[in-house]
Amino acid sequence: MIQRKIRRSSQERSDLFDGLPDDILLSILCKLSSTARCPSDFISILLTCKRLNRLGLHPLVLSKSGSKAFAIGAKNWSEQAHGFMKRCVAAGSVEACYTLGMIRFYCLQNRGSGASLMAKAAIRSHAQSLYSLAVIQFNGSGGSKNSKDLRAGVALCGRAAYLGHVDAIRELGHCLQDGYGVRPNAAEGRRLLVQAAARELASVLRAVAPSALHALTWQLQNKKPQRNSNLSLLSEFGLNNLNATSMEAHPVNRFLTEWFGSFDPGSGKGLRMCSNSGCGRPETRRNEFRRCSACGAVNYCSRACQAQDWKMRHKGECSPVDPLVVDLAGADPLIVNLDGDDDGIGDDRTGEAGGDGGGPVE
Ligand SMILES: [Zn+2]
Ligand SMILES: [Zn+2]
Repeated sequence: MIQRKIRRSSQERSDLFDGLPDDILLSILCKLSSTARCPSDFISILLTCKRLNRLGLHPLVLSKSGSKAFAIGAKNWSEQAHGFMKRCVAAGSVEACYTLGMIRFYCLQNRGSGASLMAKAAIRSHAQSLYSLAVIQFNGSGGSKNSKDLRAGVALCGRAAYLGHVDAIRELGHCLQDGYGVRPNAAEGRRLLVQAAARELASVLRAVAPSALHALTWQLQNKKPQRNSNLSLLSEFGLNNLNATSMEAHPVNRFLTEWFGSFDPGSGKGLRMCSNSGCGRPETRRNEFRRCSACGAVNYCSRACQAQDWKMRHKGECSPVDPLVVDLAGADPLIVNLDGDDDGIGDDRTGEAGGDGGGPVE
């Protein structure tokens, strides 16, 4: 009697679920795939039952998948993971295009396919893809030093900056200050560097505790940053230690860092990783990245990475070979190009970091 009751009530429950129309479930699953905090959030739904498996793999659901749905560790990379990403790419997910594009370009060294996947996302105004393609153009990644296309890099950076990508705004600011791939405009460059720092500050504030927010509000009310200061906005307000933890890297940067942390990026070819720990980009040929002009001990894929690493770590570690290279106000030294060509990012850049706390680069 009791067993019959239990059976009847479980039948009623399954009837309720079965009674839900597919389009309602699809809309819930779309929301889930776009907001999943990790791959298992989404995968566990697929394993629940045949119906959720069928609907979860519907192209509409896959097309909405967010970046964290692909946040797998490099050690978990498999043909199945590759197949799942390809399926999401086919469904039209821009995040899948970008993530798989980066993995193919850098990790699997399938440059053409990787770049075209990123281009597919960039056409649909995916800021990360636009910025990553800009880095590839600035460095001539995947080709020779003659493959660098600075104008294309600036154009891509400009589009990503317009969409609010902080690293792109910072990179564009440095380009304008240094006349790198674009006519120099120091005032506009400075304005962009300040804007990048302000946006970074805003993202820091969203992540810090309310007590820190109160302290900052007090400081903002009682202290005006100096216009021509060489310090970043964060350090102007005494917040230079906050950004280390609150600026969250894109999952694919963590994948790259892990991938090249466990496998030798150069396989003995003398290739180096970007010294900014949150980046993970490796060189695709020797001396592709620019190095710190003061110590020569660190290398960066971009000015944005150099500026970020300068604030978070390298400023305290850099020991100049020639102390005159870095000015005493604490400006970031330049990065110099090791490819042997003078493309404007090298020796003609001075220690003036434009207030963004960049760091020396050759
Ligand atoms: Zn980098
Ligand atoms: Zn240095």
